[in-house]
Amino acid sequence: MTMRTRFAPSPTGLLHVGGARTALFCWLMARHDGGTFILRIEDTDLERSTPESVQAILDGMQWLGLDHDEGPFYQTQRFDRYAEVTQTLLDEGKAYHCYCSKERLTELREGQMKDGVKPRYDGRCRGLDTPPTGIRPVVRFRNPQDGDVVWEDLVRGRISISNTELDDLVIARPDGSPTYNFTVVVDDMDMQVSHVVRGDDHINNTPRQINIYRALGAETPVFGHVPMILGEDGARLSKRHGAVGVMQYRDLGYLPQALRNYLVRLGWSHGDQEVFSTQEMIDLFSIEDVNRKAAAFDYDKLDWLNQHYMRSLPAEEVAAHLAWHFEALGIDPADGPALTDLIGVQADRVKTLAEMAEVSRMFYEDFDQFDPGAAKKHLRPVVAEPLQALLARLEDQVDWSPEALHEVIHAVAAELEVGMGKVAQPLRVALAGTAVSPAIDKTLWLCGQERSLQRIRRALDFVAMRAAEA
Ligand code: GLU
Repeated sequence: MTMRTRFAPSPTGLLHVGGARTALFCWLMARHDGGTFILRIEDTDLERSTPESVQAILDGMQWLGLDHDEGPFYQTQRFDRYAEVTQTLLDEGKAYHCYCSKERLTELREGQMKDGVKPRYDGRCRGLDTPPTGIRPVVRFRNPQDGDVVWEDLVRGRISISNTELDDLVIARPDGSPTYNFTVVVDDMDMQVSHVVRGDDHINNTPRQINIYRALGAETPVFGHVPMILGEDGARLSKRHGAVGVMQYRDLGYLPQALRNYLVRLGWSHGDQEVFSTQEMIDLFSIEDVNRKAAAFDYDKLDWLNQHYMRSLPAEEVAAHLAWHFEALGIDPADGPALTDLIGVQADRVKTLAEMAEVSRMFYEDFDQFDPGAAKKHLRPVVAEPLQALLARLEDQVDWSPEALHEVIHAVAAELEVGMGKVAQPLRVALAGTAVSPAIDKTLWLCGQERSLQRIRRALDFVAMRAAEA
């Protein structure tokens, strides 16, 4: 049988990058093996689950390109099945009704804590002959009382837990609703999941779950528990470190390819290779190579990867993501150069697509006024002459390629016997409104002929006005 993996998030917030990394690992395992990747939404916590969060998970998975082969399944649609399995366990004596009151359980726990023993259910209802009436019981799983639960964890190695450490878990509440450890087992069993890879915050649940598999006569999957992601200070990555939601990274201007590459390297390595194409990740990834120690999120490295992908992916692919940022900023890409041309020029100059959209606004929209500092320095009366000379040539310019425009600027500088800067800087401020823009020939090219001529004329008017005021 080929590998069957699943990602099983609880929809109670954002799709956290830690969860996304787990999903990526599971997806890579399935793809590597030609297997199946399942998406399951664990929405049984009705109070904390929200439709927005379900959507955030679906959006995040899609944006990251982690497509599933089966699902999404929703646990809330499987309550009948959980009830059925609970009944089977009850019928077979592998589970029992427990009538203990909250007060009794609290008392029990407090007493155990006072005596310095681990709080656990004492099994009072295990062998009840005459159940009390008028109480809606919970259902408890009859956990084996001796022996050990042992498994070979794909990340952590061999783990052994004594059954004396485990108590009889509640699998159904008084209203019949199932609990987490139980639904997970029923689902993983029914969905024939072969490899359960999840965060190591679940490691304590695993021996309990293995006992339930055994009671159900089902084959136990292979388990792997991956460490959580830390912030730079060593604490668990949270909002106070920066963005934690996958879609927040889109909003900040990261490419999904960059985030995915970043996440796969967080705790996993292949020699000292940093950049992995999707196919390389699929070919090379192995869960056994994931480090058991937690890794810290490094925002600089993510920036580096983002820049790498902005530069090296086909511009059409980057353009699709850049267009989203144009829309977010209210810039119409139809009002200026092709995004693919823009990307070729800007990719080296910015860290994110959000930044690229922002600094490129000048190619799509007119600016209100010149930056005062730049204008003061570069739009002085003496620049009227080079700007006039440029205008004259550019009005008749037929070839509006960066190479041809480069020649024009050189020719004007040569003709006036001044350095390039004396021509380029005033031109830059005329075109961009500020003293910062891409290389001047590229800036002219991206502005296009009509917009460039108009802006040079406007700068000349500004210069004339200044001359008149002087
Ligand atoms: N729903 C659980 C969570 O979001 C994951 C359960 C599992 O992977 O087994 O933490």
